[in-house]
Amino acid sequence: MSSFDESEAFEGASLAARAMAARGHPYLNELNPAQRDAVEALDGPVLMLAGAGTGKTKALTTRIVHLLNTGKARPNEILAVTFTNKAAREMKERVGRMLGQAIEGMPWLGTFHAICVKLLRRHAELVGLKSNFTILDTDDQLRLLKQLIALENIDDKRWPARMLAGIIDNWKNRAWTPEKVPASEASAYNQRGVEIYAQYQARLKELNAVDFGDLLLHVVEIFRAHQDVLEQYQRWFRYILVDEYQDTNVAQYLWLRLLAGAHKNICCVGDDDQSIYGWRGAEVGNILRFEKDFPGAKVVRLEQNYRSTPHILGAAGGVIRGNESRLGKELWTEKDGGEKVRLIGHWDGEEEARWIGDELESLQRGTRGLEPKSLEDMAILVRASHQMRAFEDRFLTIGLPYRVIGGPRFYERMEIRDAMAYFRLVVSPDDDLAFERIVNTPKRGLGDVAQKKIQYAARSNGVSLVDGARILLDSKGLGGKGAVELGRLIEGLERWRRMVGSPDRSHVELAEIILDESGYTTMWQNDKTPEAPGRLENLKELVKALEAFENLQGFLEHISLVMDNDQADGDEKVSIMTLHAAKGLEFPAVFLPGWEDGLFPSQRSMDESGIKGLEEERRLAYVGITRAEELCTISFAGNRRLYGQWQSAMPSRFIDELPEQHVEVLTPPGLYGGGYGAANPVGGGLEARVAEANVYNSPGWKRMQDRIKDRPVSQPKESRNQVIDLDAVSSHVMGERVFHQKFGYGEIIGIEGDKLEIAFDKAGTKKVISKFVSGADDIPF
Ligand code: ATP
Ligand code: MG
Repeated sequence: MSSFDESEAFEGASLAARAMAARGHPYLNELNPAQRDAVEALDGPVLMLAGAGTGKTKALTTRIVHLLNTGKARPNEILAVTFTNKAAREMKERVGRMLGQAIEGMPWLGTFHAICVKLLRRHAELVGLKSNFTILDTDDQLRLLKQLIALENIDDKRWPARMLAGIIDNWKNRAWTPEKVPASEASAYNQRGVEIYAQYQARLKELNAVDFGDLLLHVVEIFRAHQDVLEQYQRWFRYILVDEYQDTNVAQYLWLRLLAGAHKNICCVGDDDQSIYGWRGAEVGNILRFEKDFPGAKVVRLEQNYRSTPHILGAAGGVIRGNESRLGKELWTEKDGGEKVRLIGHWDGEEEARWIGDELESLQRGTRGLEPKSLEDMAILVRASHQMRAFEDRFLTIGLPYRVIGGPRFYERMEIRDAMAYFRLVVSPDDDLAFERIVNTPKRGLGDVAQKKIQYAARSNGVSLVDGARILLDSKGLGGKGAVELGRLIEGLERWRRMVGSPDRSHVELAEIILDESGYTTMWQNDKTPEAPGRLENLKELVKALEAFENLQGFLEHISLVMDNDQADGDEKVSIMTLHAAKGLEFPAVFLPGWEDGLFPSQRSMDESGIKGLEEERRLAYVGITRAEELCTISFAGNRRLYGQWQSAMPSRFIDELPEQHVEVLTPPGLYGGGYGAANPVGGGLEARVAEANVYNSPGWKRMQDRIKDRPVSQPKESRNQVIDLDAVSSHVMGERVFHQKFGYGEIIGIEGDKLEIAFDKAGTKKVISKFVSGADDIPF
């Protein structure tokens, strides 16, 4: 069993000493009384359950500083879990700023996955792995499953590998090993799910590999089976802090409960309204169960929002009110003024991207009396990553610097994956998937037949593919050009492996050598397709990216975990990301494009999970709007090209839920009012576009026109395609939670004109006039 590295403890102690010296920092004074309460209650369980922008993350970060400052824990004795790498980086920076120095000694501040990789490397042997195991990405995972499915003669058209991958992932999120999958799941994947899951796990072990879900699963298994290891970590992690607790899945929850089980010094913060990972097995119930799991927990509620203007909060509150299953929290702000949330409809997605590009530039220059803003202060948050393409194309055209956050897009490119497979193979010789990927890339005359022979040699000798290839060559089982080339590849791999860690050569130089000597770079240099130069540039970029790491292994680990692909140069950039990736972040100006039914809320999510799916989509809308500090712009397009076909779209039902008093409807360019659409030849000029609009029959388009003309369309309230009735007085719906000044909170059980029948929580059932009633989470400003 491995033990803790002394140098880590030493490193931690020195920082703690420095932290002590920084005592007296006024960080506590920056908090409101409720936050301060949560920060100063250092021992025992604490739950902070509060809405967006109320300073949960700020309090959590301050708590870390306070733990260090009071000498309660050394930096390496604090386990702090956040949701994304970006959030972890920011937290480290914030702690550093408060302490007045850069923070290096917090090895256990990171995402669940990053922390579990470290734990698993220490104890890999306890689950039958070696400590240099490979972490597979979804692509490799699918390839492996496909092989197993093929061996079982299952028709993967009817039973796609992707489906099985989803099922297995789900089981792992619930911390079910193949033996633990309950009988109720036996029918999964045509009754074969559990069986293939077991084979898949066995195969991963042979390959000395894990998938993403395994990182947690294995560590939970280790903790369950080895009390001594668990106790060691229970003692070591004296304080545990968790951000975004509403999005933990069962495996993560068990992991935390095991670690906190002894001392119970655990502080979790979250917001039930921001639970957006139900589709990945997150259980919002975890946060609601906290007080049961940790009896006597201190529960802190925060209600003051420090992030957004009243209009932004009002809009967000109006949308989230549509959800039935929520605790219902009130938010208020001391801020006043600010612009209303802006709403605009466009002809199509390209025009939406053009308009947003122009808006970004005018915000940069300063517009509508606003101070000029940096692109760093602006973000575009999309529901689905395919929406990014239009923005990327547009921004490239107009030379607007941007970055994509949240998806490892750069690393998903073919040439990058190939190069990484070479690196992986050099670091982990038994990484068969990497070998399969590059054995004939560049072409080495090793086609299907040769590859089958290698596979056979490996299988029959119970060795890795590289060793199988060696055996095949030794036994002269392969001839011709293929044999010569395979021999060179194997020699190359051995040579490069010997160079790993050599003092004569940095890992960056080694990476270049690998790409050159393997013939991979030459392959693209000789390629005459238009993409080849770009691919060579990407490879250069990859080598450049290596510089930031100590060695190849560290880099590979980072890549398999990386969620962000920010380019590191100094330019200001606008950020593009999915709503999921935007959790916890904030920007002065936020654009929310693509608010169309089917896209957002996503049709798939509604088809798969019905009302639960819709509610999760609505929480995403809430997350999106509440990222904005000053400006929030929501847009939709009447037409969109999806998978090569034009589709007409209706504005999102969430648009209908935006309270009118917080929204300003803008006139789109190219229609009434000119804008660049009129001057833009691509758009066909104003008249052409109006003519187009007139013959165009989509109800969504019609509604958009009606809205633009400020002519409310009256439709029954229950219609899901109803528009915001700009002139109507605010109305209520059955089942809505409301607040009455005299009788308090209650639920509407009857509506008759302007009279409402309400079952009040405390005052019983009463009939009241609607104007004395406000939505339960209207903000009192
Ligand atoms: P989310 O739910 O979106 O994750 P959060 O509750 O974690 O939000 P933070 O990101 O911690 O909120 O804080 C939101 C903003 O409010 C930040 O800019 C933060 O610096 C600021 N803030 C938090 N608390 C205070 C306070 N007491 N005084 C002034 N500003 C504060
Ligand atoms: Mg937060």
